[in-house]
Amino acid sequence: MPEVIRQLPENVANQIAAGEVIQRPASAVKELMENAVDAGASRIDVRVVDAGRTLIHVMDNGVGMIEADAKRCFGRHATSKITSADDLFTILSKGFRGEALASIASIAHVELKTHHASDECGIQLNMEGGVLAQETPVAMELGTQIAVRHLFFNVPARRNFLKSDAVEMRHVIDEFHRVALAHEAIHFTLTHNDSELFDLRPSTLRKRILSVFGSKYDERLVPVEESTDVVGVKGFVGKPAFARRTRGEQFLFVNQRFIKHGLIHRTIMNAYEGLLPPGQYPLYVLFLIIDPARLDVNIHPTKTEIKFDEDQHIQSLLLPSIRRGLGKHAVAPSLDFDQESSLNIAPLPKDHVVAEPVVQVNTDYNPFQPKAASDGSSGGSSGGSSGRRVAAWTRPNGCVEIAL
Ligand code: ADP
Ligand code: MG
Repeated sequence: MPEVIRQLPENVANQIAAGEVIQRPASAVKELMENAVDAGASRIDVRVVDAGRTLIHVMDNGVGMIEADAKRCFGRHATSKITSADDLFTILSKGFRGEALASIASIAHVELKTHHASDECGIQLNMEGGVLAQETPVAMELGTQIAVRHLFFNVPARRNFLKSDAVEMRHVIDEFHRVALAHEAIHFTLTHNDSELFDLRPSTLRKRILSVFGSKYDERLVPVEESTDVVGVKGFVGKPAFARRTRGEQFLFVNQRFIKHGLIHRTIMNAYEGLLPPGQYPLYVLFLIIDPARLDVNIHPTKTEIKFDEDQHIQSLLLPSIRRGLGKHAVAPSLDFDQESSLNIAPLPKDHVVAEPVVQVNTDYNPFQPKAASDGSSGGSSGGSSGRRVAAWTRPNGCVEIAL
């Protein structure tokens, strides 16, 4: 019996792995944008042609790579972001698996240009199906430019799975939004077939949301911000009146990473209980800030799922803080769980002397000698339809007091 087990060539292994990481042009856009964010860029320009089928070009002004790193970055599990598995529990970068560039390079034609400050000029590498085809020095600004052409050129099955340009472009825009919303201080642009779709200047989160969705969203947003020792939440939720039938405007980030988390989504929806008809979804752009030691980010190849140490902490902060936010903006009854209103008395000034209360007694008062009350009632009683007895009398200063 001949041996049947053989080691797959690295390139084939990369193509198979690529299936998990890169499902469509939008996945490549996400990975390249995240690499640019991790490289500390303050400006990231994304250009796609034919919804990314023909070209995805991402240009950043981040740190760039020295020549040796540029040659290494396409290797499987090649990363500068972690050195041991323990590092995963302190990680704040987007990437850590060292898979994206290896995957993309194995299923496309990739041209990388990069220039690091410690090199005199940049370097250009051309990869074809994961193999280095050409290498040349290049004059360029500091930073990195990656052009991905003919995605899935060697994986026709994948190519056939792609939808129309309109659908694929929708996915590209979704990924672009997810990265851009999480990094409002970075300048992003997105161009499709020579028309610029977004030019998002550095701004506050509120303004970034408006420049992504349109200025009419200004009146729809309710700010949310609270924290405990374990977890912080900040961001915006939408007023219920503007909820939609689709979930497209729901963004949850954990330590600036866009994630999908059913339980947290349900917690957010619970905060709207009684405020929305069934089948309506409110907008939310919420950021959870959690010690990375309490998270496991490595549970899915696309890094969009996450496991929390203690889900309960998050739920018990999130639900009341959203309800409070909605309450403050008079769109929901506010449930103030922390504050007992009867204790809400302003403290006295430091040197204030508290006077002893004086009880004033009218020694001439005779309850059997009714005076004419100013409201015309006499005898200290008036019959109401409720049958409640109301006594009225006049104090020496002329005020009428009514005792129930
Ligand atoms: P990961 O992001 O998980 O580390 P990638 O395959 O996406 O893996 O990238 C491999 C390495 O290439 C990164 O760790 C980083 O050092 C380098 N790199 C990728 N893109 C850029 C970029 N735009 N600027 C600088 N370095 C980059
Ligand atoms: Mg990466």
